[in-house]
Formats: sequence, structure tokens, C-alpha cells
Amino acid sequence: MAAINDFLRQIPSVDELLSHPTLAGEQGPPATEAVRLILDELRGAIRGGACSDPPDRDRLAARALARLRLAARPSLRRVVNATGIVLHTNLGRAPLPPSVAAAVRDVAGGYSTLEYDPDTGGRGSRYDHVRSLLTRLTGAEDALVVNNNAAAVLLALSTLKSGGEVIVSRGELVEIGGKFRIPDVMAQSGCVLREVGSTNRTRMADYKAAIGLETVALFKAHPSNFRIVGFFEEATLPELVELGRRNGLPVFHDLGSGAMLRADLLGVADEPCVADSVAAGADVVCFSGDKLLGGPQAGILVGTREWIGRMKQHPLTRALRIDKLTLAALEATLRLYLDPARAMAEVPVLAMLRATEQELRSRAEELAGRLAPLRDQVAVVEVDGEVGGGSAPTQTIPSTAVAVTPRRLSVSRLEQSLRLRDIPIVARISHDRLLLDVRTIQQADLDYVANTILELLGEETP
Ligand SMILES: *Cc1c(COP(=O)(O)O)cnc(C)c1O
Repeated sequence: MAAINDFLRQIPSVDELLSHPTLAGEQGPPATEAVRLILDELRGAIRGGACSDPPDRDRLAARALARLRLAARPSLRRVVNATGIVLHTNLGRAPLPPSVAAAVRDVAGGYSTLEYDPDTGGRGSRYDHVRSLLTRLTGAEDALVVNNNAAAVLLALSTLKSGGEVIVSRGELVEIGGKFRIPDVMAQSGCVLREVGSTNRTRMADYKAAIGLETVALFKAHPSNFRIVGFFEEATLPELVELGRRNGLPVFHDLGSGAMLRADLLGVADEPCVADSVAAGADVVCFSGDKLLGGPQAGILVGTREWIGRMKQHPLTRALRIDKLTLAALEATLRLYLDPARAMAEVPVLAMLRATEQELRSRAEELAGRLAPLRDQVAVVEVDGEVGGGSAPTQTIPSTAVAVTPRRLSVSRLEQSLRLRDIPIVARISHDRLLLDVRTIQQADLDYVANTILELLGEETP
């Protein structure tokens, strides 16, 4: 008891600890708060009999500084993606090209031409910054951008007559994840979903039979994150367009991933490209900005002057509008696509998807080389990767990883320690090994990954 009271008396005051040299330059409310928390914890520990030594000011100051740093750490921060999943939705989908990040930075800190036309000194439209790029790249008459593709689908359907029937194949009633389901979005828009066909087979005759006085549109959704294989049949977009024309009905195509380049250039099978849907005659085509396009989160709508025009007039457009930072990123991303070779080289999503076996192997060997002090705990292995982001679900893309089998730690402990860093390294565990898939690790991060692992596994450099 005497020791407890003794220790309690020796606890420094908040001001005393704040003036410790370790905390020099750390003033203001957050520093006071950190110090107060540390001292409260100490008081509790002493009272609980958990302290056998008197308070040590150096250690308390160091703990307060650590606490302060932790509190100041941003919640939304950079991570190293070592999962090999290129479009990892939880990790923010597409990393932006450096030139695109620079365009965002340029606009972020000041005023901009967001809705101002410097040529006339009058008002401009925020949508004009990307409109002509989008029409040029896709062949569509007009274009509009909103917050994300879920918003784009909602907006497109909301412009239709409320209570009207929209015909969709039962094989395309997609759930994307994050509660986005075509039937629910349809209900939200005020349209009535008219399902036709069966899960695995929907023929033109099914659409024809369903068209009636209440029909307002034909809707086709790309089954982004699943494929039906085997006994399968669907109506093609050109067939639907023809049927729509004959009946005076618009055809909406929800493409999802929205590849701007054809599949052979992308190295991704089975992902239709935007220009093909436009050329097939869809009245509205919508897709995400941060899937295969490799840009910022956005919902992009391209189509006829009539339908895009109606959407621009719709009150929802204001609620779903895109902000200036996203617009800056989207414009800069689209500009890269004016030269497909440049897009393939500079858009990280495309570069990662197109990385060759040799490129991946040499990156993995470089990483393994830096981990050489760990000797037989490290090996270069072939693994199956995936595109992610609800794209090309049946396709595994062969990739290369550095496999770490820690000798002194459990593999789950290593995985946890890596993701608890200030810049988390997100990796996966397979067969009791930690796999660092190099497809999604950027070259500039190799040193950080290697140094972190060496530090955690605590091996001396020979
Ligand atoms: C991904 C996807 C969406 C949703 O797009 P977000 O940009 O994530 O909102 C909608 N429809 C399809 C077919 C998709 O693949």
C-alpha cells in the first residue's frame, strides 16, 4: 500500500510530462490529450497493483509520443497490395497513374475551371471537361458522368416513365456486391422489372413475348462477377437493339467494368469493350471509372443525344454529381487513352494485367534477393492470380509470388504484423506460407516490403 501511494505521488503532472525533451515541439490539444491518457493509464495500473517500479518519465514521454503518432495517423491511408488481385475493391480498386495523381493535385489546392469557361468569362458545365473525350473514345453522341456506376444505372432507369416495365433476362439479375442488385435498383428507380427467360437460357422470343403497352425499355447487364457455363443461351446486344428499334424502345447496356480497349490488348478474356456496345446501337451504355478503365471511382454514361440529354435534365443528376477531384482524375485518365500504347504503359491496372511472366519472375527474384538473409525461409513460386473488381471471374491469371515460411513466427502472426504497419502490407496465406504476389506490388515498394519483412523476422544481415 505504501508503495502504491508512493508511486501515485511520483506521477508527473500533465505539464511536467509535456515539457519532457522527447515531447519538445509536440504541443496543442492532441499532445495534451495523449499525455493525459498515458497518465490515466498509469494511475489505473498503479492502483491495480500492476506496477512494481516507480514511474519513469523517459518511458512515459516515449509512450505519449507513440500514442500521439498513432492518433495522428490517417485512417484512410496507402497500403501495399501484395494479394495479386488487381482490382481489389476493399483496397480502393484502381491505383491512379502518376500523371493522373498530379492532375488531381493541381486542381485540389486551388480554384479551378470546374464550371467556368475562361474563353467567354461565363458559366461552363462540369460535364464538358470529359464529354468530348468520351464521345471521341467510344463513338457515342453524348456522355455524362456521375458518382459511380451504381448511380449511373439508377439515373438511367429513373429517366424512364415511372411504373413502366423494363425487360431483363433472368440470367442477368446481377448482384455486384455492396448491396447493389439489379432488381433492387430497378425498384428504387420506380420502374417495374419484367423478368424473361430462365437463369441459363433467354431467347429473343422471350423478349418479344414480353413486350407490351407498359414496356418502356430493354435492359442488358453484363454478368460481371459470375459466368454461366454449359447449357447457356442469351440474346446478343445487336439482336436486342434491333428488337428495340422495331418497337420504339430504348436499349440500356450496363457494362460494369467498361474496358476502353479490346480484350486482346487488355489480356482479359470475356470483357466487352465500350465502343463495341455503342457501335452495336445501345441507346445508353454505362460503366465504372475504377474497374478496367483504371481511373477514379465514377459512373460513366455514353449514348444518344436524346437519352443522355434526358439524364442531364433529371433532378437526380444533381444529387449524384461528380466532384472536381474525380473529374480531374477522369479527364487525365481518358487523355491517356487517346494513345492506346500510352494507356497500356501508364495506367497501372493495364500494366499489371499485361505484365509478362518474365517481368513478374524478375520482380519476384529481385524481392527474394533482398530477402536473401532469410535463406531457406523464402522461395519464388508460381501462383494463380485474379483480376478482381467483378471482372473476368472465370479467369485465373498465372502470377508469381515470393513465398515466406517464417521459422520463428507463425505465418498468421507475420501476416498480421505486416498489415498493422503504418503502411500496411496486405498479403495472403496459402498452405502455411505467406504469399507476396508481385503482380500488384509496385516496383517502388519492393524495398519497403523487403525491409519490413527482414525487420519482423529479425535476421541479421550476414
Ligand atoms: C461494378 C458494377 C456495377 C456497380 O459499379 P460501381 O462503379 O461499383 O458502382 C454495376 N453494374 C455492373 C454490371 C457492374 O459490374
